[in-house]
Order: sequence, then C-alpha cells, then structure tokens
Amino acid sequence: MTNKNKPLTTDFAQLKFNLDNTPVSLQFDDIYFSVQDGLAESRYVFLQGNNLLQRWQQHRQPHFVIAESGFGSGLNFFACVQLFRQFRQQNPNHLLQRLYFISFEKYPFTPQQLQQAHRTYPEFAELSARLQQHYPFAVNGCHRLHFGETALDLWFGDIRDNLPQLGDYMLQKIDAWFLDGFAPSKNPQMWSDELYQLMFRYSKTGATFATFTAASAVRKGLEAAGFTVVKQKGFAHKREMLCGTKSTHDEKQNKIPWYQAQSAVGEVNNIAIIGGGVASLFTALCCLKRGLNVTLYCEDPQPAMNASGNKQGALYPQLSDDDLRNSRFYAYAFGYAKQLLQDFFEQKIEFESGWQGVAICAYNCKVKQKLEQISAQQWPTDLFQLCDQNQLSRLSGIELNCDGAFIAKGGWLAPQQLVQNGFAYLQKCGLKVRFNQAITELNPNANNWQLINSQGDKFEHNIVVLANGYQITQFPQTAKLPLYPVRGQVSQIPTGEQLKNLKSVLCFDGYLTPADLPQKSHCIGASHMRNCADRTFSLEEQQQNADKILQNLQGCNWLTEIDISANRARIGVRCSTRERLPIMGAVPHFEQTAEQYRNLFNLRRRRQPIPPAPYYPNLYLLGALGSRGLTSAPLLAETLVCQMLGEPLPLGEDILHALNPNRTWIRKLLKGTPLT
Ligand code: FAD
Ligand code: SAM
Repeated sequence: MTNKNKPLTTDFAQLKFNLDNTPVSLQFDDIYFSVQDGLAESRYVFLQGNNLLQRWQQHRQPHFVIAESGFGSGLNFFACVQLFRQFRQQNPNHLLQRLYFISFEKYPFTPQQLQQAHRTYPEFAELSARLQQHYPFAVNGCHRLHFGETALDLWFGDIRDNLPQLGDYMLQKIDAWFLDGFAPSKNPQMWSDELYQLMFRYSKTGATFATFTAASAVRKGLEAAGFTVVKQKGFAHKREMLCGTKSTHDEKQNKIPWYQAQSAVGEVNNIAIIGGGVASLFTALCCLKRGLNVTLYCEDPQPAMNASGNKQGALYPQLSDDDLRNSRFYAYAFGYAKQLLQDFFEQKIEFESGWQGVAICAYNCKVKQKLEQISAQQWPTDLFQLCDQNQLSRLSGIELNCDGAFIAKGGWLAPQQLVQNGFAYLQKCGLKVRFNQAITELNPNANNWQLINSQGDKFEHNIVVLANGYQITQFPQTAKLPLYPVRGQVSQIPTGEQLKNLKSVLCFDGYLTPADLPQKSHCIGASHMRNCADRTFSLEEQQQNADKILQNLQGCNWLTEIDISANRARIGVRCSTRERLPIMGAVPHFEQTAEQYRNLFNLRRRRQPIPPAPYYPNLYLLGALGSRGLTSAPLLAETLVCQMLGEPLPLGEDILHALNPNRTWIRKLLKGTPLT
C-alpha cells in the first residue's frame, strides 16, 4: 500500500452467485454486471464506448494504455484482451503491438470465485486459467501479470490510495478509461471529484472514458475535471450512459521532479547490455519480448561466472520488521519472479529447482522477536506464517529444535543453470552475445553511446544498460554511486542419511539448501566480506559457514552430517547498498545533480520551480541486487525496460523513488547537505 497507515493485506470480495451465475457483491449490495448478458454489456459500454477498435487502427505508438476502476471478475479485461488479439491478428504489421490494462480492485475475487464466475464464459478459459495460475498474493499494491502481448497491472486496494501511486511518471499516459465500480448510489466514496481530477491528469489529450452510469453527479464531476462528456444510449433496457474525451491540453505538473523517471530519447532499438548474470538475463528477455535489437557484452567466456553462478540459491521475499516499503517491494518481486520462472519452465528452459518452502529458524530471542514483529504486519499466510518447532520440523522434513516462520511458496533454484540456459534460449530468440568483451569506456556521441572494450574495439548503440554486478561503478559516469562489493563463499557439502530428508531451504544466520538431485550435494553459506572483491578460496570462510549452522542450530542430531572437509566451494562478489535495496533506472549525473540541486532544500521550502533531476540520456543501470538478486531481478528488469520505452511501470511511485539510483544524493540535498 501507499504508506504506513494503509492496510498491507487485501480483503477479498464477499459474494453470492445468482441462479444464472451472475456474481452479487455483499459488500456493496450490487451486481457485477447485467443479468441479461454481462459480456455483451461489457463490449457495448466499455469497448465500444471508448471506440477501441477504431482508435487502435489510428494509434501511432507501439502500446495503448487502458485503466479501469474495479477489476471485479475480470470480464471487461477478458473482453478487451480478446478484441486486442483480433485486432493484432487482422493487423499483424500495425505499429500498435502491446496493450497495458491497469485495473484497481478494492475487494478482489478469490481464485475459487473467479473460477465460478468464469464458468459462464468458456471462451475465456485460457485467460481465466492463467489469471488463476498467477493470481497475486493478497498484498495491496501493483501486481503485473502477462497475457501474451497484454500486461495486466492489478492494483489491489482502494483506488483512492492507489491511483496517486501511478505518480508523475504516468501523467498524460493513459489512452482510455473503463469507469466501472458499482452504482454511484451504492459506492459514493469511489465516485469522487479527486478520482475525476486524477483521471484527467493521467489522460493523454484525446483520451476517452466510458461508464455504464448516467448519474448527473458523475457527469458534472467529470466535466468539472475537464472532460467533454456526452450521453449515449445505455446497454439493453438502460436509457443512458456516459462517454467522454479529454479534448484539451494541460501542462504536466511534476510533484517530485528530483525522482522523475527518464525514458529514452530518439530511436529506441539498438540496445547494449553490459553484464552476463541474472540482471542482464531478465533485461535482455524484456527487451526481446518487445522486439528490440539487443547485444550482450560479457567480459567472461560464458554467462553466470560471477555472483549468478552458484549451484543453488534461495528464492523468497526478504521481509523486514522495520521497513514495510522494502518488504512490499520484495513481496511483489517474488510473485513476479515466480510467474516468469514458470514461463521459463513452460518454454523448456531447464534449471533445477525445488518449491517446498523456506523455513526461517528463530535460533535466538532476537530473531524470534523479529519474526513476531513481521507476523504482526499481517502478511498473507502463503507469504509468511509463524510456526512452532513441530510444525517447522514437519514442513522442512528434518528435525529442528526451534520455532520459526515458514514461507510456503518459497524455494530454491540453480542460478548458474538458469542464467546459462536462459541466455542460450534468448540467443535462439535473436539476442546477440559477445563474450570475452570487457567494456572499459562509455563515450556519448551525437545520438549514440560508443562502447570501447579492453582491446580498443568500438561499438555503437542507442541505449546502454549497465548490469555488470559489482563492477557497475567502474565507469566515470557511475563512479560516485554509493555501492560496494561483498564477497561471498558458499560451501558445497555431500548429503547424508538425515540431511537428504530436508525439503525446504533452511535459513538461520546463513542458509542450507535441500540436496540437488544430480550431485546429491547441499549448499551452505554464505560468507559476507564487505568491500572485498577477491575471489580466491578461503579456508576460514569455509569453516565459518559450518560454524554458523553448528552454533545456530546446536542440538539437532543431523548436524553431525555437515561435512565441509572436501573444501568444495564457490566464490562470488555481490554488489550492495546500505539500504539493502537495489538501484534501477537512468544513470544520474553526479556533477550536474550537485550543481543544479545545490539549493534544492531552499527551492523546496520556498515552493520555487525545481527542474527535473539530471541523468545521462539513454544510459541505464540495474544493479546492487545484494543477496536477493534471484527474487528481485525479473521485476526490476521489467520496470527498467518499461521506463526506457515510456510504458506503464509495474511498481508504485513510493517504491520507484526508493529504487532510484540518485536516492542517496537526493536525500542529502533535501536536507540541505551539499554533494561533494
Ligand atoms: P553478476 O551475476 O555478478 O553478473 C555481472 C556480470 O557482468 C558478469 O557476468 C561479468 O562478466 C559481467 N561484467 C562485469 N563487468 C563487465 C564489463 N566491464 N564488461 C563486460 N562484462 C562485465 N541471491 C539470491 O537471491 N538467493 C541466494 O541464495 C543468494 N546466495 C548468494 C550467495 C553468494 C555466495 C553470492 C555471491 C550471491 C548470492 N546471491 C543470492 C546474490 C545473487 O547471486 C546476486 O544478487 C545476483 O547474482 C547478481 O546478479 P548480477 O547480474 O547483478 O551480477
Ligand atoms: N469490471 C468488473 C468486471 O469486469 O467484472 C466489474 C466491476 S464491479 C461492477 C465494481 C468493482 O469495483 C468491484 O469489484 C468492487 O470491489 C470495485 N470497487 C468498488 N469500489 C472500489 C474502490 N474504491 N477501489 C477499487 N475498487 C473498487
């Protein structure tokens, strides 16, 4: 949700189904759609009311954005996806390729309720199955789901809290509105002037809206906000409904210019990614999905040779007892990562994995207290659940001697396999890869970036994405970012009679993974050596890895099977920030930020105009994934590529600000401290 006072978890819809299977809301005492023919009503009111087919024909951009108040059963969404697919089939070479459907829902259906409601519409069986398969955790905020060429941003929570979270970035970016949301008489809180005013600010000039209601208060509110409103014949027996247009142009008023997200300028096509780990894998995937031309430059002879090259890694949301914003980011990222990994699996990209949960051991009072505080935040139980010792032992398959918490949907995967096989797949989809290419310089040309490698070879690209792990600060443009390397050694140990029963990842002041099947070994780790990028084996860290588990879980009889003596280990270097949150976005210009925002504190205090933050045009980065890159990389990559292309972003403004690479500098400047 948007801030500390808003609820974290979502309340589900309370429904009954009529004899004809039309859902009825008990919370609003109203039906979701016409009992005569819900689908025909949806097509008439919202699709035709916005004149979608004709507008798509005339659209001169690669994407079109619809926003809806009230996702309900998703019927409007399905009807719209179906129409868009027909449009795409009939116009395969049309510039318009992608649809963004942003829908706000205060009381989402449960997957069971969706299944029941969708029985009436067998033509949507495939869409319904995908929606249920990837249905988000009941956490308020934005959840992005992909349906081929259509992306659905399902915002759980009250639209009054969430619409402002589209933020400055979405000003003048929405093409059409489906103004649904029960009769104004049954739901007066939603139909507010604030809603209409925000709708207007987020609308492009020429954007349209349609709504089933003809209530005069709604008409007047929309007119007062600036829309031109017309009455049309309503669906079936209904006399009237409202449609309208934003026919005027308004000035964009950025409220938070110092964090303004910058899209690429000029031609967006010829993209270079510098990297070779999980961050570059997902960035390349997101670019290729949009038909962009991408080249990967990797200094190693193959992908996944640094941090992303471990045999096993844990995948779960990092929930914190004191920073709900960070926790929410990891919760959304976790849901998104699982969706993309499932798609990889279906595309037969092979990587070993196990999804039998993550058990967090409360190995001392402090950890126990922390887990209780997280539990008090009331996360949905499939994301976080306190357990006693017996439950935790049963769930993890191995005898434990402490209470703890369980993340039922968490698990582990093989990062090296994922990244190497993922890149091999992307190469088949058109990705160009250049291995053994250490990029040492980035020089801006008139319209391009020139990359120079260690042999002096030069390459030209419109856009460059830096996803090169802890070396991201090696360029003059990024040298001032407050990032640091953290060396880590993870030990591989053989399985044992009892150890082999471990089903879930076990977390303590380290972690132990279940056995991987081909090699019958577990990973145990990992050390954290801040400001160290050395990658040689350390006997001391090997011993540390064993000592941690022996001390933390003292008394468990299977600990005798922990055997590090073969000295099998893998060393990688993470890239971290103090806030334990990644950085993603355009590369901020340090010297210009220091100069132009020298007086930011006073400008803000005196409410004087503030220019947008300075960035290097068409130079982006995704990094500082710390110890959670497997969870965060997919959502960050999607967000980055959307930002480059000016598409809607799958995260709320509060989280985007927290991810902005300039955040540490801006925080100082906002307090009146100059940058040095
Ligand atoms: P990297 O994987 O380091 O990739 C950087 C790439 O950039 C490399 O391929 C390198 O060749 C290339 N490169 C660098 N500079 C240049 C250049 N100038 N030109 C060309 N190429 C360049 N995360 C989890 O989610 N769960 C875990 O359980 C987990 N355990 C971990 C254990 C250890 C020991 C370590 C080290 C990390 C662990 N992590 C874990 C963190 C996770 O692995 C990282 O967050 C993630 O791999 C970072 O990916 P990346 O793509 O940003 O960087
Ligand atoms: N468009 C839906 C469909 O295709 O099934 C039907 C929408 S139904 C008539 C109205 C929806 O608006 C309900 O699901 C309701 O929970 C939701 N809603 C009502 N008030 C809301 C609010 N303040 N914020 C977000 N959603 C709201």
